[in-house]
Order: sequence, then C-alpha cells, then structure tokens
Amino acid sequence: MSGKPKIAVYKLSSCAGCQLEFLNLEPVLLDVVGALDISYFVMAKRDNAPGPYDIGFVEGAVTCGEEIAKLKAARRDCKTLVALGSCACFGGLPSIKNWEPQREVEARVYSELWAIHSTKAYGIDQYVPVDAYLRGCPIDKGELVELIKNCLLGAAPAWRFPAVCTECKIKENVCLLIYENKPCMGPVTAAGCGALCPTYGKPCEGCRGPAHDANAPSLARIFGDLGLNAADVTRYFRKYAGTTPAFQEGAEAL
Ligand code: SF4
Ligand code: SF4
Ligand code: SF4
Repeated sequence: MSGKPKIAVYKLSSCAGCQLEFLNLEPVLLDVVGALDISYFVMAKRDNAPGPYDIGFVEGAVTCGEEIAKLKAARRDCKTLVALGSCACFGGLPSIKNWEPQREVEARVYSELWAIHSTKAYGIDQYVPVDAYLRGCPIDKGELVELIKNCLLGAAPAWRFPAVCTECKIKENVCLLIYENKPCMGPVTAAGCGALCPTYGKPCEGCRGPAHDANAPSLARIFGDLGLNAADVTRYFRKYAGTTPAFQEGAEAL
C-alpha cells in the first residue's frame, strides 16, 4: 500500500451498531484516523469519495437483490473485504426470518407487500469471497483494532476461536449452566468477547457464532435435559448463526 490505506464502510441490512463501534474507538480513534484515509463512510461523514479502496468493511446481512448488487460492487472496489459483525458474517439476527415462509414474515411487518422483494438473510460470503471476519453483535473493538493493524502490516489475522467458556473460566465466573441450570450457549460459541454476558450474570446467547470444534448437538441435548422443548432449543441455535453448519446441527438435534 502506498500512502494511507483507503477505507470504505458499507451498510446492508443491519442496525448500524457495528459501524457505531468504529466511532466508539475513542481512545485510539485519532491514531486510526491518522493512519487511514476513511474515504467512504456514509454514517460518519458527508463527503464520500468513490473507490477503489484498500479495505472495505461491510456491515449487515444480505436480504434483497439491491444489496447483492451493492455487495458485488464493493467486492470489485476493495482489495480486502471484511465482514463487519455477525449479520455480515453469517446472517445474524436478520436470519431468524429464514426458517419461516418469507411472505408470511413480510406480512407481519409490511402492509404493502407488492413493494417488498426480500430474500432470505445470509452473510456476505454467500455471494462474494471474504478476506476476514469480525464476529459479534456488535463487534469487539479490540478485534477491530487488531484487524486494522494487521491490514496495515499487510497480514491476515490468524484467529482460532475456542469456546466462550474458556474466557469465563479465566474470569472465575460461577458457571450459569452447571450451577444455575440456565441454558448458556458459551460451550459452543466463539470466544473473543471476554465472556461478556456470563460475567454480568446472563447466559451467552451465541452472538459470535460457532467456536471451532463446537459440539452443538451435545449442548442441545443438555438443554433438553434442562427441560427446554425441541422448538426452544432450535430457537437458541438459530438466533444469530442458524445458517452455519455447526449451529444447524444443534438446531436439528432434538
Ligand atoms: S451484528 Fe448486531 S450490532 Fe452489528 S449490525 Fe448486526 S444486529 Fe447490529
Ligand atoms: S456460564 Fe456459560 S460460558 Fe460460562 S462457563 Fe458456564 S457454560 Fe461456559
Ligand atoms: S457472551 Fe455470548 S452473547 Fe454475550 S457477547 Fe459474548 S458471544 Fe455474544
């Protein structure tokens, strides 16, 4: 890369929470802004320059034809393309609609159905090659900074994700699954958030998607032993990452 790397931040179907984390980088934001040329970021600035860009961050799931076209243009314009957040990584919350007839889901929200041309919600790698993934709902700021540093050095981060339980144990939290019989997705969910939810007494809901080597059917059976019925267990595994093979196995285990 010659000069400052040119950055673009795109939005598809999403709540904008992951873009907000970019802006919430306060302690290091000035360093980041100093090191990068933030060329296209509609949420953050009025004057946006056309591509090509060195790094493109895409937030949001793909849920309609217009977004497929926008994503393919982003892929053409960006040397490195990053999925920003769980919606972009594997469909995230929007993907909960995938498991019901699309027209019925649309009818619950919209009255003028003729204007709606929605597809099932998928992560961006369903349509284009992706170079790096930032998981989480929203993303973790530390991982964002690490990824930016790696990109500046021309390297790809070599992340391998154990389960959230590993971070929970390091924090010496009391296990909510074992000692309080609460359905916690920590044993199958990718670490990296510092076991945020269990640390505050809430079971993990799986927002970072499957850990490497996740045994989702085994956890589904444990949820069943706790008294959850099959439909509830399925909902747990489909909340954020039901499109991934590992969580699909969990969703269909009972
Ligand atoms: S991953 Fe979560 S925080 Fe990020 S855009 Fe999607 S819904 Fe919002
Ligand atoms: S509370 Fe959840 S994340 Fe923490 S150790 Fe128990 S199962 Fe794992
Ligand atoms: S504990 Fe689970 S739901 Fe909470 S932030 Fe971490 S991965 Fe997401």
